[in-house]
Amino acid sequence: MQRRQFLAVTASAPLAAAPAPPNVVLIYCDDLGYGDLGCYGSAIPTPNLDRLAAEGVRFTHFYSANPVCSPSRAALLTGRYPTRVGVSRVFFPADKVGLARDEQTLADLLKARGYATMCVGKWHLGHLPEYLPTSRGFDEYFGIPYSNDMNPRLMLKGTEAVEQQAVLETITPRYTEQAVGFIERNKAKPFFLYMPHTYPHIPLAASERFRGKSKQGLYGDVLQELDWSVGEVLAALKKNGLDKNTLVMFSSDNGPWFQGSPGKLRGRKGQTYEGGVRVPFLARWPGKIPAGRVLDAIGSTMDLLPTIAGLSGAKLPAKPLDGVDIWPLLSGQKKDHTREALLYFDNWDLQCARLGPWKLHVGRYNSFIYGPAPSTGRVNLRLRPPELYHLVTDPDESFDVAAKFPDIVRDLESRIAKALPGFPAEVQKAWRDTDGRDTAPSEPGRLPRIKG
Ligand code: MG
Repeated sequence: MQRRQFLAVTASAPLAAAPAPPNVVLIYCDDLGYGDLGCYGSAIPTPNLDRLAAEGVRFTHFYSANPVCSPSRAALLTGRYPTRVGVSRVFFPADKVGLARDEQTLADLLKARGYATMCVGKWHLGHLPEYLPTSRGFDEYFGIPYSNDMNPRLMLKGTEAVEQQAVLETITPRYTEQAVGFIERNKAKPFFLYMPHTYPHIPLAASERFRGKSKQGLYGDVLQELDWSVGEVLAALKKNGLDKNTLVMFSSDNGPWFQGSPGKLRGRKGQTYEGGVRVPFLARWPGKIPAGRVLDAIGSTMDLLPTIAGLSGAKLPAKPLDGVDIWPLLSGQKKDHTREALLYFDNWDLQCARLGPWKLHVGRYNSFIYGPAPSTGRVNLRLRPPELYHLVTDPDESFDVAAKFPDIVRDLESRIAKALPGFPAEVQKAWRDTDGRDTAPSEPGRLPRIKG
């Protein structure tokens, strides 16, 4: 073909249509346990979430990056360990801080890609205007900027308080109304709806329609209202013809607190035992994610940013990510993947590492009163020797097999030693401080002390 002919052919050929970036709906519950959904073995019926699982993929080893609220959200929205992004602990209304301003959120990336973006629900990454969702990539915000047990319980629209003490009973239906309205308004262009529910974090409340409905107490009623809300969002997608171009994901920020079930896992919110950090994860995208699969592969909420960025064509942040793109798992191309050891932090303290079926515990909080007042409360203590659990044969971390598998212990210890220098100074200081504590009292009842 002559050059002139070639140019004529290529000029007249229609441009190959790039696949439209999918809409993304990310529903995130607060303190919902691994065992709280019907599809994860709960006695509380959750038919809409069970349908979401049946029409998509359900993970059985999916992790929040932290066992409490604010750090979990920081990891979800940045794809990085929360200790890297300035969020080591839960924020309170008196705090003047938030998610580090130089971090990019998933909403920032999608907004730059042309998405309409909205956050409906509990934010908890800083309540001052520069930290609120509307300064972090979201066009719109409606919700309570922190937990429902904190005061004043402001309900914000954008950055303005529309209620000084949000009425607890109607929170879920109001969030649902906002979410459905956003979908309706933006059905013609790609959108990102981030819906971090306030519940089932305490204090619990359900609307009149759901009170007493579950026959499993108020916690069950609250869960059923959350399940109803998911059903309403799915119905809005269907009604607007958006099912085939919308990726819906569902998860939780940490394990259950006072009520709720971690399933057969050990531990609850605030602990780095599995019950504190392993959470439900469901993903559905008809035609793209095969229906009815259950995956045992290890996934993390930190994986969602790189995965969604890849699907939407959004540019990744300049800073290195800790999450990995799990689209090959979601789409059914792969059943499992290899990844670097997953680290479990609480506050600045690195407490565990997981690789394949193995989990090594190297530190743990103790509730001893420690040292002279006012330095009381939780203290991180090094486990000497560390404890090793095989999470497939021993899911509730009951049988320490470190003595039987010294090579596995050494491998995980060396991975921790290699990873630590890449973390902020606070993490390394916490590690040294823990190391300096005596964790082997010789007399029963003697409190741990600082060595030397
Ligand atoms: Mg929480």
